[in-house]
Amino acid sequence: MGQSLTEKILSEHLVDGKLEPGEEIGIEIDQTIAHDLTGTMVWLQFEALDLDEVRVDVAGQHCDHQTYQPDFKVTDDHRFLRSAAGTYGAYFARPGTGILHQVHKENYTTPGTTLLGADSHTPTAGGLGAIGIGTGGLDVATAMGGAPYYIEMPEVVNVRLEGKLPPWTTAKDVILELLRRLSVKGGIDKVFEYTGPGVETLSANERTVISNMGTELGATTSVFPTDERTRDYLARLGREDDYRKLGPDPDAEYDEQIVIDLSDLDPLVACPSMPDNVVPVREVVGTTVDQVIVGSCTNGAYEDLLPITELLSNREVASGTETIVQPGSKQAAEMLSREGRTADLLAAGVNFSEATCGACIGAGHVPASDSVSLRTFNRNFEGRSGNEEDDVYLCSPEVAAVSALSGELVDPRDAAAEFDLDPPGRVLPDSYIGTSEADLIQPDGAIDDELVKGPNFGAVPLKDSLESTVSGPVLLKVPDNITTDHIIPGTKEVSMYRSNVPKLSEYTLSRVDEEFADRAASAGSGFIVAGENYGQGSSREHAALCPMYLGVDGVLAKSFARIHRTNLINFGLLPLVIDDTTYDRLDESDEVTLVEDVVSAVEMGQTELTIRVNDNWEAPVTLHANERERTLLIEGGKLPHTKRRLSS
Ligand code: SF4
Repeated sequence: MGQSLTEKILSEHLVDGKLEPGEEIGIEIDQTIAHDLTGTMVWLQFEALDLDEVRVDVAGQHCDHQTYQPDFKVTDDHRFLRSAAGTYGAYFARPGTGILHQVHKENYTTPGTTLLGADSHTPTAGGLGAIGIGTGGLDVATAMGGAPYYIEMPEVVNVRLEGKLPPWTTAKDVILELLRRLSVKGGIDKVFEYTGPGVETLSANERTVISNMGTELGATTSVFPTDERTRDYLARLGREDDYRKLGPDPDAEYDEQIVIDLSDLDPLVACPSMPDNVVPVREVVGTTVDQVIVGSCTNGAYEDLLPITELLSNREVASGTETIVQPGSKQAAEMLSREGRTADLLAAGVNFSEATCGACIGAGHVPASDSVSLRTFNRNFEGRSGNEEDDVYLCSPEVAAVSALSGELVDPRDAAAEFDLDPPGRVLPDSYIGTSEADLIQPDGAIDDELVKGPNFGAVPLKDSLESTVSGPVLLKVPDNITTDHIIPGTKEVSMYRSNVPKLSEYTLSRVDEEFADRAASAGSGFIVAGENYGQGSSREHAALCPMYLGVDGVLAKSFARIHRTNLINFGLLPLVIDDTTYDRLDESDEVTLVEDVVSAVEMGQTELTIRVNDNWEAPVTLHANERERTLLIEGGKLPHTKRRLSS
């Protein structure tokens, strides 16, 4: 049986396991990226590995989430990131250079490579035939050290594209169509591999629009084959040598197949407040639009900004509609500017913004109360815009542009008649302007060669190896559905300490019990007792790192959220499952001891262990961990394990 493209790229990078769905595999990583919010911890963890330099082909550090610097802590973070890149041999994209996925795509994404990013939209790279996966900072730090990345082999779904997009319908509508069909959960533990005659009708940039927003399906990643259009795109960027022809074998078999006839698609829109709440634009025409924003890592490339420049040239946006263009990269902004297109936009009443994530995460351009914002972004979760009661719609650049003209949501096919518009061409210049060396600082031109840490930086703690005897008090008992946000709040006040674990730890579980951190730190050991689904929500690693710093040995829970269970193991904490009766019997301050020699039990792969409580009753607990995870637990977590492995 032939291989899919996904299997081909993964086989070339496979260092552990078999490519069978559900089996754990270890893959070698070629490139890594991080942004300013995730990067500080990535580099502090890399520092803890005690290596002289990164051991991947390309490591990139971007500053795009907080280019606005309202506080010295942010500027300190940026300076630290620049110094870390210089010290360890990564490139550094200065604040304002653009959004990491755009800047990386324009400068480094290479067909057939693996890219690991500390950001969920890393799959953008799949549009150029690379396997890009978003993950936590610890995985990126250890991958930069040369350690494999471990993941359960996903199922590979074949999305067969047929036909050709009609005028006014775009790549954004392809991914919105998939979200409409499959929902935001439809891609979990799956890779979406695109094939079929429709692929060659899409430009390389259009493919990256689709792979970027495959993240909203919950997919591990998305990937396209490469062809002459990929070569052409790379050539215009001056990177033709990076081109490699890639595709599945003709007899490749897939776990699932979906067919989309591009010719049948209509302009679509995701209504508030979920990316899968998708309807044809014609169903919501007439909705007054107060704000339009074109940009983001999904639709912020030069090619995505062309439609609004063409459609608004010599016209004016509706007076009640604030319209903003927020380029995905400075390169795109510079090209528009040199062609005079920025002047056209400004004359049409558009605000031209810095190349940054900005409005996508509520950092500026927060919509007014009771207003509608129409964006070309990938997410419209409630409150993400910075206004808790927002009404954010997601659409293509074409729909955004004609709605800006009209002042209300309008199908571009109808607007074409009203405003005498032709479908915008997306004709690319023969060559792109490259990102300037002043903005994309290479390791050999690095400004710093040692780490520069501001007063808000704290060392990353390393856990000692597991001891044979594990015992301590129940430090806190919590109910079902404790989220990672309960464990480490994501508020601005707290998250500014993300580079300072000792300080951040003071907020651990403070939303549940303000005294918890003091109690845990003075005990220096012990357990959290929890109900069902402990650690649900985001993949926030600090929710495991901070309890570890405080001395917590493990969590006794009825069940764990999947990613948080992995994070607990990665930081050397025991995730132990208890039954309802044990949960009911356990109380705060009870003394809990694991009866077995814990190191031997974990080493031997023992699943069932026993706890003794207050020396007067016992109960069974279960440890679900594979062989690799057991090694991590014994060695105190992934960081000490990787450090040992790399120095041996
Ligand atoms: Fe994330 Fe939005 Fe930035 Fe893309 S533009 S990387 S989705 S914050």
